Amino acid sequence: SIVERLSAPHRGPVPFSVEFMPPRDAEGEARLWRAVRIFERLSPAFVSMTYGAGGSTRDRTVRITGELAAQTTLLPVAHLTAVNHSIAELRALVGAYADQGIANILALRGDPPGDPLGEWIAHPEGVEYAEELVHLIDTLGDFHVGVASFPEGHHRAPDLEHDTRNLVNKLRAGAEYSITQMFFDVEDYLRLRDRVQAADPEQGAKPIIPGIMPVTSLASIKRMAELSGSVIPPTVIERFTKAAGDGPEEDRASVRAVGIDFATETAERLIAEGAPCLHFCSLNFAKATSEVLGRLGVDVDAALHVPA
Ligand code: FAD
Repeated sequence: SIVERLSAPHRGPVPFSVEFMPPRDAEGEARLWRAVRIFERLSPAFVSMTYGAGGSTRDRTVRITGELAAQTTLLPVAHLTAVNHSIAELRALVGAYADQGIANILALRGDPPGDPLGEWIAHPEGVEYAEELVHLIDTLGDFHVGVASFPEGHHRAPDLEHDTRNLVNKLRAGAEYSITQMFFDVEDYLRLRDRVQAADPEQGAKPIIPGIMPVTSLASIKRMAELSGSVIPPTVIERFTKAAGDGPEEDRASVRAVGIDFATETAERLIAEGAPCLHFCSLNFAKATSEVLGRLGVDVDAALHVPA
């Protein structure tokens, strides 16, 4: 299970994990596999594959996650969302994962397709909340389930207390750990951890794995803000826009360097605060994440420059 992996020996100061996205086409799939082979040499505790909203991407996701289990040394976690699925379909999907030897699932509600902030409408024969999905998976076999957590609070939660209660309920339902939404301020992560510990010490002992995205362009920081539904703090915006310069084109090398610095500083602080693992949102590229890992003291060169 993931929790066992987190206490196993690892390279560098802390275990790390990598998030992949389903590729859109053959070219994207080739790129994903290049990243997979690089990460394989760096021995992440686990890798995870996000779950999209469209039918064809969904099929591809299930297939590729199965291939990760069968053809690599990596431990894959399959994200699963309740969007547009009946309970019968969710059961079939969990069964398809089990058939491919995948026992680790991240149970999510998902967002309305097209507009993440739009109105959520449950499938008439589906589930309303991730907590129900955790219960459902539990009835289907011997799975290890994780859930999402939100350092700044979920954008639909009326307040942080409600948000904390929901996370605690998902953990009580049987989730063994959570992975956080990306965040800009480590304090938000620490406060989330404190809230869960205060609300329920037993559930608070379960790992809260922080999500990190090494930013490589102004577009990607905006994407990170969109994905997390969070407002980028003015000091962070200033740092990146300064690096971008006032020329007609953004100074990509400087923005990237600041992005790597920012992710490294975030990671160092998280390690100092005892985070159980660092979960890197890779966007299917290995370079930025391995650069950050190198800065954290992981011997990436030995892993990356293997003789042909
Ligand atoms: P839930 O835990 O169900 O919470 C949703 C909202 O409902 C919250 O505001 C909560 O407070 C509220 N709520 C819960 N229970 C109740 C209740 N009983 N009564 C009233 N309100 C309640 N999306 C994808 O589409 N694919 C992915 O692969 C994916 N991967 C992700 C990975 C991570 C690590 C994270 C953090 C998010 C990911 N997401 C993904 C996004 C996620 O699906 C959305 O953030 C979604 O809006 C919330 O999902 P959830 O599982 O936290 O929902």
